[in-house]
Amino acid sequence: MTTTRRKLVAGNWKMNGLTASMAELVEMCDANPTNCDVIVCPPFPLLGRFVGSAGNSHIEIGAQDCHTAESGAHTGDVSAALIKDVGATAVIVGHSERRTDHGEQSGLIKAKAEAALANGLTAIVCIGETEAERDAGNAEALVTAQMRASLPAGATAANTVVAYEPVWAIGTGRTPTTEQIASMHAALRTALKADLGEEGHGIRILYGGSVKPGNAAEIFAIPDVDGGLIGGASLKATDFLGIVSAA
Ligand code: PEP
Repeated sequence: MTTTRRKLVAGNWKMNGLTASMAELVEMCDANPTNCDVIVCPPFPLLGRFVGSAGNSHIEIGAQDCHTAESGAHTGDVSAALIKDVGATAVIVGHSERRTDHGEQSGLIKAKAEAALANGLTAIVCIGETEAERDAGNAEALVTAQMRASLPAGATAANTVVAYEPVWAIGTGRTPTTEQIASMHAALRTALKADLGEEGHGIRILYGGSVKPGNAAEIFAIPDVDGGLIGGASLKATDFLGIVSAA
C-alpha cells in the first residue's frame, strides 16, 4: 500500500451562526492554513456567502445535508446540484443529529452520498454508536455495518470521507479513550480495505466528538485517525485554527 492520507479538519457549524459570524470565517481564511485540508460547513443560508468569503484561500466550504433528488417538489430541502452550483465542494451526510431528529437511516444516507458524488461533491459520511450500543459491547460490529450500509456506490479516496462520531461524545465534552478510538478506526479501515482495496486504504476516516484545541494533537496522532469533524470548537476561529494546526 503506497497511498498516503493527507489530514482533513472539517468544521460543522450546525444551526449556529448569523451573517455577523462571517468574521470568524474571514479570520480563518486570513490564517489560510496549508498543513492539512480544511472544510467549513455553515448553515444553508450562509453557504454562498461563505464560498465568496473563502475566495482563493485553501479553506473549502461544504454543506451539512443534501436531498437525494436533483430538483423537484421537496419543500425546504436542498439538492447536491445546488450546493455544487453555489461553489461548495463537500457535503456532510448522515450526521447523528439528522439520524435522530429526522429519522434518517443508512439507506437514505447512502442515496444522499450518491447524489453528492453524482454532482462532484465530496461526501462526508457520518457513523457512530449510541452510549447504550457502546455499553452493550458491540460498537465495532455495529458501526462497521452502519458504514457499509451508508457508503455510496463508487466511493473512492478522492470523493468520500468517513466520519466516526460516537453519539455520546458529540457536544458532551466526553471522548472515548485512545484505545477505543484506535480500535474502532482499525476495524473501519479493515472493512474499507476488504471492500475497496487500495481505495479503502486511501479513504480518510475522521474522528468527531468533543475535539478541542487541547485534545486534538493526541487524537490526531492515533493510527488511522485522518483528521477530525469538529462541531462546537469550529465556531470560533482561534479554537478551530488551534485544532487545524494540530493536524
Ligand atoms: C459534530 O457535531 O459533528 C461534533 C463532533 O460536535 P462537537 O465537536 O461539538 O462534539
